[in-house]
Amino acid sequence: MIKFAFSLYYIKRNMFLGTFFFESILTLGFLSDILDIRKMRIKDGIIFDIKKYAIHDGPGIRTTVFLKGCPLQCFWCHNPEGINSDPELIYQENRCLEDCSDCISVCPNKALTQQNESIFIDRKKCALSGKCADICPTEALRIIGRKISVLELIREIEKDRIFFDRSNGGVTISGGEPLMQPEFLFALLEECQKRNIHTVVDTCGYTPFKNLAKIKDKVDLFLYDLKIMDEKKHKDITGVSNRLILDNLKNLSQLKNKIHIRIPLIANLNDTEKNTIQTAEFLKPLGNIKDISLLPYHKIGTGKYKNLKRKAYEPEIKTPLYEKINKIKIRFANYGFNVKIGG
Ligand code: SF4
Ligand code: SF4
Repeated sequence: MIKFAFSLYYIKRNMFLGTFFFESILTLGFLSDILDIRKMRIKDGIIFDIKKYAIHDGPGIRTTVFLKGCPLQCFWCHNPEGINSDPELIYQENRCLEDCSDCISVCPNKALTQQNESIFIDRKKCALSGKCADICPTEALRIIGRKISVLELIREIEKDRIFFDRSNGGVTISGGEPLMQPEFLFALLEECQKRNIHTVVDTCGYTPFKNLAKIKDKVDLFLYDLKIMDEKKHKDITGVSNRLILDNLKNLSQLKNKIHIRIPLIANLNDTEKNTIQTAEFLKPLGNIKDISLLPYHKIGTGKYKNLKRKAYEPEIKTPLYEKINKIKIRFANYGFNVKIGG
């Protein structure tokens, strides 16, 4: 109503000025943009990466958006920078220049000091201003995580539309755990749907079911991660029970959403005959689940733990042998699932 009244006022004024056709149309578009921007700005989210041309995160060529924050702490996590919900400063020593100290002098909080040949961050003093990262010539210091509005993100996503259209791809929203930011996720999915962009949500399933129910009509495909069936072991390796995850999967499968199960495989942890049979037995009666991806553990994320000053559990975790992965693939296939190795 307000929008309409404003538009009428400007149309009248512009008629008087004799520029009706041109300026009034611009005015209508302008007002509509302002209202849309306001609506979408309310729902700012925190992301830590946008991956273009992704081919393992759902069908076709995709743009994958990584939302910050995860309720699980899987010790093999490839994206430890996604666990903390807030932006954080990371330092990569191997990128740091020997004869440089620019970051130290620019920090208003004196949070940085030289220690031996590297930079020490006093995280209690750091206010995440990003000034050190801005001045760093080699990106040895970086702020991971930034606020973004739905509108800004959609603009970025729209740049890749040609790839989506040609490959039947779209947008995948991953993390972290995207459902840690349910309002932002919903608004983003809604905008994608309005623009006919195929949507995939990659979730660990650890969220109140109402969050999954809220987004279900906006999601074309769920990628649903399962780690291990034994509740105690699940708690040991992720920090949380798997009850909510399994219950949510049961409930979600009744809503007839398309669900693709993803299982990270870690040697001697969840690649056992017992666990894979329990997983298959659990999934079989769920009806609309046909696809399973087995994701053998790899060490890509190892260096990130050092950058974040987090404890990694290397070298205790190992990739299962190829022969064993194949056996697991056959085991799930014998239950009637389409199984592939990799995303
Ligand atoms: S982010 Fe800002 S406060 Fe933190 S170390 Fe860098 S310059 Fe200092
Ligand atoms: S500005 Fe960058 S390269 Fe220079 S000392 Fe700081 S972290 Fe190292």
